[in-house]
Amino acid sequence: MNARPGCLWVVATPIGNLGDFSPRAKEVLARVALIAAEDTRHSAPLLAQIGPHAPLLALHEHNEREQAQRIVARLLAGEDVALISDAGTPLISDPGFRLVRAAREAGCEVSPVPGPCAAIAALSVAGLPSDRFVFEGFLPAKAAARRERLRVLAGETRTLIFYESSHRIVETLADMNTVLGARREAVLARELTKRFETVLGAPLEALHARVLVDADQQRGEFVLVVNGADGEDDAATLAAGRRIFALLREELPPSRAARLAAAISGAPRKQLYVEESQSAE
Ligand code: SAM
Repeated sequence: MNARPGCLWVVATPIGNLGDFSPRAKEVLARVALIAAEDTRHSAPLLAQIGPHAPLLALHEHNEREQAQRIVARLLAGEDVALISDAGTPLISDPGFRLVRAAREAGCEVSPVPGPCAAIAALSVAGLPSDRFVFEGFLPAKAAARRERLRVLAGETRTLIFYESSHRIVETLADMNTVLGARREAVLARELTKRFETVLGAPLEALHARVLVDADQQRGEFVLVVNGADGEDDAATLAAGRRIFALLREELPPSRAARLAAAISGAPRKQLYVEESQSAE
């Protein structure tokens, strides 16, 4: 066995336009001993661009634990391995986290070959504050869980970034409009770097209405960038929470009324509850 372990290269690949396949990504993929890919059939055409290359090993969310052990053994034997996903940067809403952790724990070098990432590409053209942002990835598929997650995020002041698929884009925009508020600014970045790339910016109500009536805008891959809550939004949410709380309080004990009012409005439950107990003193 070699004294020196190999390196795990985490390689970003294009999110659409093959012109974004970097020379360094190609060079690394051409010289490693093994390429771990999310879907080997999907990656074959991309890798055909670099000519002869190492064999592919499938690494996806259902086999990552076992495959990570195999790959670490290869690294410890001194071989270099590359990790790619179907598109963009591995680990970003893609498999790889367990492998990277296992490689680092085994004392192997892990090195990035940075490149395309849909979230960052969308943020870079959205024209929304980009100094602080939160990457939320995919919202839950089920409506109740999705709305609950949005309620949790309603007061977040940093710019929010979501991934979404064509199956749910209309529903997600409808829920965002209801939970985050009709006036909240958002940008829908569709098919970035591809032929039908569109970047639409509008308040959530208008954005939802626009996408609802245009089947073309419901096709492809999407990133949604949403402005963070501002002070005005927070004040409006709290005012709504207080109104709902006052109504529910006529029928319910304070803790239950506060919980429901917070769930409906997105206002902080504790604040509604504390205000009540202070006013009762
Ligand atoms: N690892 C990838 C990255 O770095 O962006 C993301 C993988 S995630 C499984 C796939 C999601 O990313 C898509 O459903 C879509 O939300 C977003 N996405 C990927 N490519 C995109 C593109 N060209 N335009 C807009 N969104 C894209």
